[in-house]
Amino acid sequence: MSPETYVSNFMEGLRRRNPGQPEFHQAVEEFVGSITPFLLDHKRYLDNYIMERLTEPDRVVSFRVGWQDDNGAIRANRGYRVQFNNAIGPYKGGLRFHPTVNAGVLKFLAFEQIFKNSLTTLPMGGGKGGSNFNPKGKSDAEVMRFCQSFMTQLAKYIGPNIDVPAGDIGVGAREISYLFGQYKRMKDEFTGILTGKDIAFGGSLIRKEATGYGCVYFVENMLNHKGDSVKGKTCVVSGSGNVAQYTVEKVLHLGGKAITLSDSGGYIHDPDGIDQEKLDWVKDLKTVRRGRISEYVEQFPRASYYADQRPWSVPCDIAFPSATQNEINASEAQTLIDNGCMAVGEGANMPSDLDAIHIYQKAKILYGPSKAANAGGVAVSGLEMTQNSMRLHWNGEELEEKLQDIMKKIHKQCVEYGKESSDYINYVQGANIAGFVKVANATIAQGVM
Ligand code: NDP
Repeated sequence: MSPETYVSNFMEGLRRRNPGQPEFHQAVEEFVGSITPFLLDHKRYLDNYIMERLTEPDRVVSFRVGWQDDNGAIRANRGYRVQFNNAIGPYKGGLRFHPTVNAGVLKFLAFEQIFKNSLTTLPMGGGKGGSNFNPKGKSDAEVMRFCQSFMTQLAKYIGPNIDVPAGDIGVGAREISYLFGQYKRMKDEFTGILTGKDIAFGGSLIRKEATGYGCVYFVENMLNHKGDSVKGKTCVVSGSGNVAQYTVEKVLHLGGKAITLSDSGGYIHDPDGIDQEKLDWVKDLKTVRRGRISEYVEQFPRASYYADQRPWSVPCDIAFPSATQNEINASEAQTLIDNGCMAVGEGANMPSDLDAIHIYQKAKILYGPSKAANAGGVAVSGLEMTQNSMRLHWNGEELEEKLQDIMKKIHKQCVEYGKESSDYINYVQGANIAGFVKVANATIAQGVM
């Protein structure tokens, strides 16, 4: 059978079994498309029906989350947990609170998480969860009541050796704290049930920095492999949340210059570069005052604001999409390349659509897919789990060294499985095959279930 026929038959069945879940179809198609030649060369995986088994979640639970707003009005949202695969460790993956959350989006994220977690070399399975609740514009008290109600349901399905959620879009330190408090209140148990916790109650240093820092380290590894580095490079970053902020910070540490940030309202372009002082202002704006990125230009008038646009037309050496899925399409990818972009490091999950990926690959630029490039966050979450189990606390330097080392190992695995020629590494293929082999072998070893 040709790879094209295998992929097309497989995807036809997957679409039929999972109607109305385009993001899930997209994530699986990207994955299956890249590993099929390897699968066809390793009949054992086909004989064991591995792809069919790995694309069916262990379970998807959904539940009602009722809560009261500040006016006493009763509200209801839908909560979910997708426990996709625990072949190599307890389910692990973030919680997303955003109005676009549905079962298909969470299945795409949980599916990606299986292989990302495998790449980190730590023992973690893949999961994801969240709600269509929108924390934007809600008071702290409303967010607290929502989180308490959400955890009252979620607590039935999680546990330190079963499933350990973390944050994602709309779920930061504030939400994790409320969720942790409710679990502790219900179970009377102080345990590492969530990661991304405050340092005062079992959190890990470097966790909030880890995804952004790790992504820049991954790009530094790709550039080093070519005899180059981030130093002196102009970088375009999207988003202005957790991942974007710490991407900008590590770009600064490594001597690069980040010139854009965005949110769902538009983007800012600061030709002078976003230095540490400006970044600290953004951190306060986004995490304390919960404001909009448009306010940046009032504070720093040399910058410009572009409403309802994404930053990909700004010329750069490196692009760091760090907001959300499908934020770079084919024409935006082409614009990046035409303007001289040499590398893309995906801080967000699946920010480039399938056509955009084909354009990067055709142009042979360095393309670090999210599975590999943003794995630093979950890697440090894994280290937080270890610290909680061992009741110890590593210092920031030790953890950053471990993070750097993990990103180096992920890069090495991508090179091992993705080397197409002496000067081209297909990082998509490398990340997917390296992530797959460990999970597939564990699944086969554990028997048919
Ligand atoms: P945050 O909630 O901290 O920030 C999200 C940012 O993205 C905000 O600036 C937000 O703008 C913007 N954004 C969200 N949705 C959209 C949209 N539909 N269109 C345009 N902009 C949007 O989330 P994180 O920084 O934690 O997550 C960002 C990405 O990184 C996600 O894809 C997430 O899955 C991924 N990721 C995060 C990890 C982590 O450790 N936090 C780990 C690995 C991946 P606005 O405020 O206007 O909504």
